[in-house]
Amino acid sequence: MSFDLNKLIRPNIAKLEAYSSARDEFSGDAKVFLDANENSLGSPSLKWYNRYPDPHQKIVKDKIAVIKRIPAENIFLGNGSDECIDIVFRCFCEPGKDNVIICPPTYGMYEVSANINNVGIKKVPLLNDFQLDLVHLENAIDTNTKIIWICSPNNPTGNSINRVDIEMVLNNFNGLVVIDEAYINFAKQKTFVQELSDYPNLIVLQTFSKAWGLAGLRLGTAFASTPIIKVMDRVKPPYNINQATQEIATKALEEIGQVNDMIKIIVDMREALAEVFLTMPTVEKVYPSEANFILVKIKDARKIYEFLLTKGIVLRDRSNVALCENCLRITIGTEQENTLLIDAMQEWYHLNP
Ligand SMILES: *Cc1c(COP(=O)(O)O)cnc(C)c1O
Repeated sequence: MSFDLNKLIRPNIAKLEAYSSARDEFSGDAKVFLDANENSLGSPSLKWYNRYPDPHQKIVKDKIAVIKRIPAENIFLGNGSDECIDIVFRCFCEPGKDNVIICPPTYGMYEVSANINNVGIKKVPLLNDFQLDLVHLENAIDTNTKIIWICSPNNPTGNSINRVDIEMVLNNFNGLVVIDEAYINFAKQKTFVQELSDYPNLIVLQTFSKAWGLAGLRLGTAFASTPIIKVMDRVKPPYNINQATQEIATKALEEIGQVNDMIKIIVDMREALAEVFLTMPTVEKVYPSEANFILVKIKDARKIYEFLLTKGIVLRDRSNVALCENCLRITIGTEQENTLLIDAMQEWYHLNP
């Protein structure tokens, strides 16, 4: 395989002179900061946020580096993984010329982000078992194909993509392979983060929004080779991770024990909930899940979805999505929320015998 990152970077990005912030030009020890036009008097709140945050997020990255056992220079932080997705497009895909491959049914943002950036989309649907269709994938690649997006465990299907298939793509595609591991903490499958040195074309996305319980903070991570991270760093807005997020994430990263406890509880409830769904009369299939949600194929999915809404319970209706016909995606809730859901579904069966 001949992988050449320089051939993948958009010419304007390769030439780009990145914005140099006040905090870039001086980052040593000083007592008086009069370089960034902040309000030196303070903030109208108990906590002071009058200073710009660290554009390189050094403290957070050093903590993530220890937990993930990789150097901090292989880490990029985004305002949610959604920002990482957008930045990957903007670094590597020339609008109106390049294309990417996505494998639906999958996470919707790859397509939205491609459309926003006017980047072509080639869809290679997953097979019936929700695994990669390697034959059609290979056929879809052309000289302008820059990225293959793989979501594993996949949203909304919940399964992990076979590791050997992903390795096959990584070994044979000269563009970038992005593996979105938003749900990896709930999976038996190993992360690809440890394989960065083997694959110069690999970008792994993870997020604080799911297992870490911090969706409201907006913090996503991209792991990749140092040259890829350097390109992404030049394209990102300088202060994309705000001060509050950096502080709270730094604290949260010290509580990995709590996170692991929550993951265990959620996985146990996922398995228990799957058992209960299987006993329900019109449930046709409960797809095996390695995530914090389950996909359930059920007769009258849309009607049940609407009935549950009247009970104040919202599921994700995927019944119109190809390969997910008549499917509802159900996030694992608290014990009490799961019970409310099951009770409401029993009520539906009672009303619709
Ligand atoms: C939820 C989710 C994300 C998370 O995005 P954030 O912007 O980090 O909240 C990313 N990818 C997939 C597949 C998801 O389901």
